[in-house]
Amino acid sequence: MTPDLECLTLTKRFGDTLAVDEVSFDVPRGSFFSILGPSGCGKTTVMRMIAGFLEPTSGDIRIRGRSVLDTPPNKRPVNMVFQHLALFPMMNIADNIGYGLRRAGLPRDQIARKVDEALDRIGLPGIGQRKVDELSGGQKQRVAIARCMVLEPEVLLLDEPLGALDLKLRERMKVELKSLQAAFDTTFVYITHDQSEALVMSDHIAVMNEGRFEQVGSGQDLYYRPATAFVAGFVGDSNRWPGQVERVEGDALILRTDSGLILRGDRHDRALSPGDRAEIFVRPEAIRIAPSAEDLAGFDNRLSGTVTSLLFNGADSRILVKDAGSTEEIAVNLPQSGEFAHLARGAQVHIGWAAAQGNCFAAGAA
Ligand code: ATP
Repeated sequence: MTPDLECLTLTKRFGDTLAVDEVSFDVPRGSFFSILGPSGCGKTTVMRMIAGFLEPTSGDIRIRGRSVLDTPPNKRPVNMVFQHLALFPMMNIADNIGYGLRRAGLPRDQIARKVDEALDRIGLPGIGQRKVDELSGGQKQRVAIARCMVLEPEVLLLDEPLGALDLKLRERMKVELKSLQAAFDTTFVYITHDQSEALVMSDHIAVMNEGRFEQVGSGQDLYYRPATAFVAGFVGDSNRWPGQVERVEGDALILRTDSGLILRGDRHDRALSPGDRAEIFVRPEAIRIAPSAEDLAGFDNRLSGTVTSLLFNGADSRILVKDAGSTEEIAVNLPQSGEFAHLARGAQVHIGWAAAQGNCFAAGAA
């Protein structure tokens, strides 16, 4: 099936700034696609080119197989939801949702029917006569989406739409946005700098850095199989050790860290060889903790140290362990919070993890 949206070597320069650098991606029909990256990496610029507010320096944008470069923004089959929702405060909810339909000249009875259908889909039937300021932040958010969706765009662009909401509402809206996308069965392209928003909602995520896409994949791909040091560091928490490659043994690599540890990891970057600067990333939940070294005999990496902090946080409690031979603390997530009870600050513990749990990349490669 033709993807709903294709960007081909899309590039945008502002004077000397290369804001978007030959970005190519496809968004399959009906999917939730996020562009995730730090502030200034070029996300909004990609979005504005798709919407037609900015002309690309080079490259192409196709919607359902047809280039839209010559199509003005108001004629493109896309619509955009902004962080500041821009609902009209003087109009009631029904008039807000029907605004675009009225401008398009649809008859009143059709508008009323479409508005009622949209209110049903967003789970707010019968509120058409209410005023904007009578709604909660989350309800306004749903109305803003309904206002775009009645126009039946092929692609809905969402530019950090949860950014202005408080933390609790943001958590709830992540789940709601995903179900709204399924309810409207429309392709969503979502931009955010918040990895948890991207991981919770998206079918596919592109991680963007300095104008380029570092990796495109599912949340699991990015989390468990990062392709670059930037992705490994940006998505999820990791212990990270810079150092120097000591030896290479097939798919494994032995790194002497700057803090004095010898660690074995997976050699993701095939070009790495002895003497190179490299960095190893290990997830806190990949590290096992045990009272004695024998319990960890099967692991390639084994250390012993002292517990310096216990951070109880419900389901994902963690401890920090300081290895005797090094200066830094290693974060370890506990599989069950119950295990916390047996540990205390100052306790001597053993930790270990498999080489496959350590992702090695050339230092400064990203
Ligand atoms: P944020 O998350 O902070 O919104 P972003 O990832 O969306 O950031 P962009 O707004 O796309 O980043 O900006 C990418 C780069 O392009 C930045 O260096 C920015 O300063 C530059 N830029 C964006 N718009 C313009 C413009 N109209 N003129 C000149 N430079 C611009």
